[in-house]
Amino acid sequence: MATNSKTDTALPIYAEGALTGACWSCGDMRAAHFCQACGKLQPAVPTDYFTFFGLPRKLNIDVAELEREFHRLSRKLHPDLYVISGGPEREWSLEKSSQLNDAYRTLRDPITRTAYLLKLEGVQLEEQSKAATDKARASGEEKKQVVPPDLLEEVFELNMQLEELRMGKKMGEVGESLKSELQHKKNDFEQKLAATDSELKKLWDRWDAVVDGNEPGRIAVRDGMVALLNRRKYIANLVRDVTAELES
Ligand SMILES: [Zn+2]
Repeated sequence: MATNSKTDTALPIYAEGALTGACWSCGDMRAAHFCQACGKLQPAVPTDYFTFFGLPRKLNIDVAELEREFHRLSRKLHPDLYVISGGPEREWSLEKSSQLNDAYRTLRDPITRTAYLLKLEGVQLEEQSKAATDKARASGEEKKQVVPPDLLEEVFELNMQLEELRMGKKMGEVGESLKSELQHKKNDFEQKLAATDSELKKLWDRWDAVVDGNEPGRIAVRDGMVALLNRRKYIANLVRDVTAELES
């Protein structure tokens, strides 16, 4: 659906190979962060998070390996190591350390990793965050939130029961049966969330095959992931709202 995505202009598409070139110090070819010949730290350049870690833009990632690489680079890029050399190297170590932390945080989590890849592909996901909801409520503007069609009925019923619970709390009379009904619905939605995750996992495999050139339909796989992430976010928000009402 066209309303689910739009082109994101905020994120530049970085040139591939931005991290390779000649070493500033010895002129030899350098690897991503350190010169292969003289070992000197190389300038910090804007780069996407996959490239930063020397990874292809694939979604199946060995997270344990990513973590090891994160710790290895954290030590080697630590700004304290460049206090004596001073000058630009210290600046680069600071910049690269900051890039490293952002890249690691984004890629280690499967959902933020997927959302980030979709951004690189030019897609902006629907804003369904709590902050966006609160902002829309405060300004009185209608926030576009597409209910997945197959969930319409259940969501309608859930909202009625949530409203009933809120009213009950105000009156000081909350029925236990209503609460257990809502708990039941919450469990159902949590199962739907898990189902969405396994659907997403299948699309990861297809995406990685696309990147390898083994499968056509890049746009179709991309749009499939967008739809699943939006659905996932929608359901996660419902679960969050029900949990908050049940616990308050
Ligand atoms: Zn060098």
